[in-house]
Amino acid sequence: MIKLASPDIRSEDIGRAVAVLQSGQLVQGENVAAFEEALGSFTGIEHCAVVSSGTAALHLALLALGIRQGDTVIVPAFTFPATANVVENIGAQVLLCDVDPDSYVVTTDAVEEIIINNRDKHITAIMVVHEFGYPADIRAIQKIAQSNGLRLIEDAACALGTFSGGYHVGHYSDAACFSFHPRKAITTGEGGAVISNDKEIIERINVLRNHGIIVREGEMDFIDAGLNYRMTDFQAALGIGQIERFSPEVERRRYLAGLYHEHLKHQKSVRLPRLVDGHAWQSFMVVLEETVLRDLVIEKLFNAGIQTNIGAQALNCLSYYARKYGVNANSCPVASNLYKHGLVLPLYGKLRNDDIEIICGKICSIIGE
Ligand SMILES: *Cc1c(COP(=O)(O)O)cnc(C)c1O
Repeated sequence: MIKLASPDIRSEDIGRAVAVLQSGQLVQGENVAAFEEALGSFTGIEHCAVVSSGTAALHLALLALGIRQGDTVIVPAFTFPATANVVENIGAQVLLCDVDPDSYVVTTDAVEEIIINNRDKHITAIMVVHEFGYPADIRAIQKIAQSNGLRLIEDAACALGTFSGGYHVGHYSDAACFSFHPRKAITTGEGGAVISNDKEIIERINVLRNHGIIVREGEMDFIDAGLNYRMTDFQAALGIGQIERFSPEVERRRYLAGLYHEHLKHQKSVRLPRLVDGHAWQSFMVVLEETVLRDLVIEKLFNAGIQTNIGAQALNCLSYYARKYGVNANSCPVASNLYKHGLVLPLYGKLRNDDIEIICGKICSIIGE
């Protein structure tokens, strides 16, 4: 079976986690700090807080930026629903923005249009998703955010290793959030992180992730109604080696994405994702022509020993958002199409060049041509 994803956890990573388990200091030990340090040196972003999941990272970023009830947050329509769920959970409203059909992320034009057409709403923030690691134009979107007095958060759950506007993601926004779920390029089981060049934001997150506690002159005080969103020390131990080995992993993914393009460029029923510099390729999603039965293709590929999956969700098609905001498939047609016809193919460093050839050959024989 060619698996969809395969985390690169090695015996030395397991050894580091086992050492934590044997030490008895399972939380708030030195590995959390070392993992934060490693993420900082990989991304070049100054401050970092690791947390219990990507969703926790997004939730804390919104809280730390003061987004609250009565606010409206612009969210891409095509994403994993956690991006919008956290907005709902702090009592703010979601305003969906449709995405580009070849990059699957929002464009500056679309964001500007949404702002202009919704002057009656109390928009306070933009959430940008670098879907599957594609570098959204965060530098240009920052200018829009700035001129409209909006906060800017990057859902970079899939975008460790993504560069946009000359910098690793996290440079142009108030905060960028990562996930270390097993489907992502680096995993700690469950896990996440927030990075920012703004020291105060990360300091606030450090307090909020730990019950609102600060320690002043040896005395503990609870200065906020915080949460427990900490990462354990043995989880952090798993991540350190993976981040240290990540640069060649991303290079390999870029190479394999190019190979997919080579092998599928003549297949007319398959629309390929745009190839651009700075893409981290957490996932490689193609879009099948409407006449092709996507779920049947998934099944046939599975029977041929190849694991594939649908891409992300169109929020406008999910019952919660449809019910609450009166949206439907026509509200964000591009996202709806990607949700219905997107197919994610296996992609990770350990995949062999031959595997790409086998996968593409199978796709062509199933679809025809
Ligand atoms: C995976 C993912 C999340 C959620 O991360 P978890 O660690 O599973 O909570 C949020 N947003 C996007 C775009 C994701 O891909």
